[in-house]
Amino acid sequence: MITKRMSLDPEAVSVRDLDEAGRILREGGLVVFPTETVYGLGGNALDASASQKIYAAKGRPSDNPLIVHIAKPEDAERFAIVSDAYRVLASAFMPGPLTVILPKKDIVPVQTTGGLSSVAIRCPSHPVAHALIEASGVPIAAPSANLSGKPSPTCADDVAEDMDGRVDLILDGGPSEIGLESTIVSLLGPVPTLLRPGAVTYDALCCVLPRVEIAPAVTGQLSPDEPVLSPGLKYRHYSPNAPCVLLDGNADEVLRFLIRAQSGSNCAILCYDEEIPALTDQRLFPVGKREDLSAQAHMLFAQLRAADRSGADVIYAHLPPREGLGLALYNRMIRAAAHTVKHIENPQ
Ligand code: AMP
Ligand code: MG
Repeated sequence: MITKRMSLDPEAVSVRDLDEAGRILREGGLVVFPTETVYGLGGNALDASASQKIYAAKGRPSDNPLIVHIAKPEDAERFAIVSDAYRVLASAFMPGPLTVILPKKDIVPVQTTGGLSSVAIRCPSHPVAHALIEASGVPIAAPSANLSGKPSPTCADDVAEDMDGRVDLILDGGPSEIGLESTIVSLLGPVPTLLRPGAVTYDALCCVLPRVEIAPAVTGQLSPDEPVLSPGLKYRHYSPNAPCVLLDGNADEVLRFLIRAQSGSNCAILCYDEEIPALTDQRLFPVGKREDLSAQAHMLFAQLRAADRSGADVIYAHLPPREGLGLALYNRMIRAAAHTVKHIENPQ
């Protein structure tokens, strides 16, 4: 398959610019599109064969459900049984980087939901994503536009690295603003449950809902007999080819460790901007200032991919804090590192 590529200015996009992309989706094809979180690999959510094509293009197990993207929060009623909690979340955070799990209606094929009777609904705020949903006239099923197991792509070049020849069209809308996938909240049980942290933080959810639980898999390793609330959580994810090690400990000690590591090994380092002067620039991938979690979220996946391309034997990165947006960074990075954390104060 020949993959076409089209650049669009998110500030000036109109629904008419997406005529062709909309037609491809209506005819059952695949279109990669930018969102405020990461790039999505889209197909018609109501077309079972389009969903199957998405799984094939990603190399993703077909029991890992897709997120259904809608143009307006109210459109959820066509595809899901909505509740008061949904309306509260929608008015606080939609359009935006939040996905809500609800009981599905029959119109959504089980191929789109990985065989589940629930459906993930999201209303993206990115102007190109919004215009694409309007232009196609259909809800768009889209997981992140990476090959299964790779970090999610946050720019069109990283999409092309994985998806060239596997999709009909890649829409290039520039780098993703947030850089981490959407927050996922399940409303299936009696208490809303955070399944995946993202830019809508746990604290922000608690400001509008009386109680929110955090699924154990968000911070921990799943044990084999634990029920999986979000099928995506059980797969190896966000993983670079080189092993990734997260460093925990006092800032000075960690920096000393990194200086020694650079002279003694073939390592890549995802460093904070403040550390750049103390390190050599070989295989150095800055992710922003230590306190700037938004910058780190924005840079993380692109720098993980770049570190991997550098041919390093090992990738070192900092263990993020678990507060605020840090929880989303922590959740992605412990998976990239397969839970390998090195405590620098007590080197073994
Ligand atoms: P991705 O597009 O890579 O962000 O993947 C979509 C994520 O949404 C996966 O981690 C899925 O497990 C999750 N998801 C989608 N639908 C559901 C659902 N019905 N219940 C629980 N999790 C879901
Ligand atoms: Mg993904």
